Parts: sequence; structure tokens; C-alpha cells
Amino acid sequence: MTAQLITICIAGHGSLIGKETGKVIAVGTRVMHCRVCSNKKLSALGASKHDCRANWGGSSKGMESDLAVEMLNTKKDDTFQVSTLIGDDDSTTMAMVRQKVNHQVEKWSDVNHAKKSLGTVALS
Ligand SMILES: [Zn+2]
Repeated sequence: MTAQLITICIAGHGSLIGKETGKVIAVGTRVMHCRVCSNKKLSALGASKHDCRANWGGSSKGMESDLAVEMLNTKKDDTFQVSTLIGDDDSTTMAMVRQKVNHQVEKWSDVNHAKKSLGTVALS
């Protein structure tokens, strides 16, 4: 019988894209699991000195807000800051942004989420 080791990668990716330019402003990742760290055989072979990418110990739900805060606090230079964030209607992310981002950030809903919200209100 052949068995296959299935590795489940639990990771989150985030990016900030400029509305006018369409260019990527910032990117970030949160990785919950490292196959090398969790494998005792690999660790015994000296793999403890690997380029470990695991950088998140919290919940999956917390990844988005943490990434948003990190990317919004990342400064390319002193003249640049993101003042408006367009995204889904995740209140947790905006609560964290308002607590932890060094400058004021306004929240806009993207068109798809705004349509869904209006449809829900209109049907109820
Ligand atoms: Zn690792």
C-alpha cells in the first residue's frame, strides 16, 4: 500500500493595490504551519536551521486584520500613506486598523460587497 503524506498549508496572503494606479503597494503573508518544523525526522537531521516561513500563531480569522495593519503601517517614505481602504465589510479588520495603524484610515466597501449588502437590505 502506498501512502502519501498530505501537507496542509495554512497560509494567508494580503495585498494593497492602489485604486488609481492599479499597482501593488504592499504585500504580506501569514503562515501558520511549517512542514519542516513539525516533522521530527527532518528536525533530527539538522533541518532546524532552515528558512522557516511560519510567522503566525493566532487564528485564521486574525490573519486578515494583522496583515492589513502591517501593510498600512509600512512606509515607503514620509510623503506616502494609505488614507482609504476599500474592501469587504469585515468589522474586525477595521477595528484593528483603527486601533493599531499610526494614521487615520477611511473605510470604503468594494462594489461587490456593497451590492450584496443592498440586496440583503432590500429583500429583508
Ligand atoms: Zn519551520
